[in-house]
Amino acid sequence: MAKEMHEFQAETKQLLDLMVHSIYTNHEIFLRELVSNASDAIDKIHFESLTNRDLLEGDENFEIYLVPDAASHTLTISDNGIGMNREEIVDNIGTIAKSGTRAFLDKLKEAKESNAAVTDKEMIGQFGVGFYSAFMVAEKVAIVSRKAGEKQAVRWESTGDGSYSIEECDKEKRGTTITLYLAKEFYGEKAEEDFSDTYKLESLVKKYSDYVRYPIRMNFVIEETPKDKDGKPIEGAEKIKRDEMRTLNSMQPLWTRNKSEIKPEEYNEFFKNLFHEWEEPMEIFHNKAEGTVEYTSLLFIPSHAPFNLYHTDFEPGLQLYSRHVFIMDKCKDLLPDYLRFVKGLVDSPDLSLNISRELLQQSRELKVIGKNLEKSILKTLERTLKNDREKYEKFWAEFGKSLKIGIYNSVYSGTDTVDKLKNLLLFTTSQEGKLVSLREYVDRMPESQKKIYYATGRDKENIEKLPQMELLREKGLEVLFLLDPVDEFAIETIREYDGKQFHSISRGELELDDVESQEVKKETEDIAKKNEDLMKDIKDILGNKVAEVKVSTRLKSSAVCIVSDAQGPSLSMEQAFSEMDNPMFKAKHILEINPHHDLFARLQSLHEAGKDSQDFKDYCDLLYTQALLIEGILPQNPIDFANKVAKLMAK
Ligand code: ADP
Repeated sequence: MAKEMHEFQAETKQLLDLMVHSIYTNHEIFLRELVSNASDAIDKIHFESLTNRDLLEGDENFEIYLVPDAASHTLTISDNGIGMNREEIVDNIGTIAKSGTRAFLDKLKEAKESNAAVTDKEMIGQFGVGFYSAFMVAEKVAIVSRKAGEKQAVRWESTGDGSYSIEECDKEKRGTTITLYLAKEFYGEKAEEDFSDTYKLESLVKKYSDYVRYPIRMNFVIEETPKDKDGKPIEGAEKIKRDEMRTLNSMQPLWTRNKSEIKPEEYNEFFKNLFHEWEEPMEIFHNKAEGTVEYTSLLFIPSHAPFNLYHTDFEPGLQLYSRHVFIMDKCKDLLPDYLRFVKGLVDSPDLSLNISRELLQQSRELKVIGKNLEKSILKTLERTLKNDREKYEKFWAEFGKSLKIGIYNSVYSGTDTVDKLKNLLLFTTSQEGKLVSLREYVDRMPESQKKIYYATGRDKENIEKLPQMELLREKGLEVLFLLDPVDEFAIETIREYDGKQFHSISRGELELDDVESQEVKKETEDIAKKNEDLMKDIKDILGNKVAEVKVSTRLKSSAVCIVSDAQGPSLSMEQAFSEMDNPMFKAKHILEINPHHDLFARLQSLHEAGKDSQDFKDYCDLLYTQALLIEGILPQNPIDFANKVAKLMAK
């Protein structure tokens, strides 16, 4: 096959451009990225070879080599991992298959446009760009790779300027060799950072990749003065050079070391390396357990949620090791799904190496370990909420949604998840600018308040303007603001907290039982009785669009609102379901009219003049549509609505 030229996918080009123009100033991390790719590739062949030994072709000394060449200004990183064939190189390197990169670029653009105070470093932290970081230090990158079990090798080459070439070639050993043709700022004695210098490279490996599980080896040229037979250097003799192959990393898995001897930086580097993260973790859990099941766990909560945490392409799970030997990546069965954001590993001598994935997942040991891990994570979160509110709120902003989804999903999983998680929830509220937990809300409820009130909406400002908020605000009652569609589903699942039921301000009666409210209720009942016909006729005109039309007790200055009944789904749940193409869940629309608003008198007079008049009908229709608009629901027939409003304005 002849050499072919290909264009990078548009997104890849953009990303390369960012790399070349160094959005990330810490150039040296390119080595960590390439070494961890090499280590991952070795993990893969190791895993595959457990069931297919032939793949190893007799070469089972897994190794990573660094070969700096000062003369040609290159640095080569090679591994005897799984390797890549032509399609895989094109897929993995030439195109950015991962939707995440697109999302990354969009977010970066967005942040730039809005001048948000977010640095490139923070942005990239959420995404990471792995292999492409090579272009931060190289003006040309060549990959030669041969996939294990295949004969044909391929050579890929690019200067990072928009295109790459690919051609067939020979390669004796399986695996991947990446050659960086260093840019002139990055080699030679005068360079700020010389990535062709063995000692520099050695220090970088120690700093970033010390515990990589496979030896990272490099040849050192040692210059020595010859010694005499007593071992003394011979004066004036010409120095001799000899080669010395050294292993640069200690390979001792970090988690096997004593907690007290591990520095925070070591944990941080380990985390970045193992999980291709760019930022330090928010929380670290390192435990050794010696109960019925013996294991060591090292878990992390990242400082940012990955962009795709809730997408189907996100793969949660922990790494599994048995006696420090890697068994499996992304084992999902250890932690409950609501902790999907936790990264880390478990190493247990009680797990068998040669057991199938399926059997392993059902193993009793795994269940015991999982339960313990869950407990310790939840305990830490509870402690953080109590003792370090600022930190907890950061956690909440990133991962709170996961816990809320967990509560909602407990409907299906039938677990005691609700009890485990309800005290960890935080809500925006109508009071102060601070988030509130359910405990705090209930503790500061006035004696007379029987329910926990909540409102749903897109944002705080919108909810505060809701007609349904008026009365509660006047009475100084605190309302939880549910801003995410999942919130109401979670609240519905919890049902009650500390014996107090949740109550949406847009559903059912508010059931306030202070003296004043009782009076208002009585007065409204009187008005309702007197206007029974009016209500009935409005209902008749609106037909099955509404379930009921009634005189409101909750409105103060607004004319109308729509609420739903206390039993069925709310309007916002109906909206959420219809967005999911699930129109099965219909809320009961109850139109409430404020009897103290001028509009009420107008309705009465129009009604008296004739309930069949077009004007009365138009008013009814407009009332209903208005109430929907307040809830953020568009009228089914906007043109009709606009025409009716125009007609009224022209009067
Ligand atoms: P990431 O490692 O985060 O997936 P990269 O851009 O670093 O992203 O690499 C993209 C993909 O290219 C990897 O997922 C892997 O499939 C493949 N790859 C990179 N380096 C190697 C290597 N040394 N050996 C085999 N495959 C590799």
